[in-house]
Amino acid sequence: MAAEWERSPCLERGCSKCCRETEMPLTRADISRIEALGHKLSFFTVVHTDGSVRLANSRETKACVFLDTESSDVDAPGTCSLWQDRPEGCRIYPLILDELDQPFLDELCPHRDEFPLPPVGLRGRLLMLSDILDGEAI
Ligand code: SF4
Ligand code: SF4
Repeated sequence: MAAEWERSPCLERGCSKCCRETEMPLTRADISRIEALGHKLSFFTVVHTDGSVRLANSRETKACVFLDTESSDVDAPGTCSLWQDRPEGCRIYPLILDELDQPFLDELCPHRDEFPLPPVGLRGRLLMLSDILDGEAI
């Protein structure tokens, strides 16, 4: 089984900060999986200026189109409606890579100190994701 966070504070803290004004890149596998659920590409994707395909934000809430929320307030409650099928990057965050490909917890996550140690294998998934995305820019 792929490495996952053993637990995360996201739900118990009611946090959805990283789902707001998201620029989360999508792999082809992410896109195929989400399309297979019946979502149209034009609904959930935008092409970034660097050519990568990213998650789209709702015009009303300024949050990811899959975030179930009533408000555009960054601190408002929200839940991912795609949880089981969310993109690879969403599963791994807040672990990200520095310029030397070393993993660290993104300072933009307000609850990063409450995450456990990253499970063995998560850095590998992050490196694979980075390689996949590097090869998938259109
Ligand atoms: S910002 Fe951090 S705590 Fe908040 S939802 Fe994202 S990963 Fe979870
Ligand atoms: S897919 Fe889910 S976890 Fe990922 S940014 Fe959207 S709402 Fe957040």
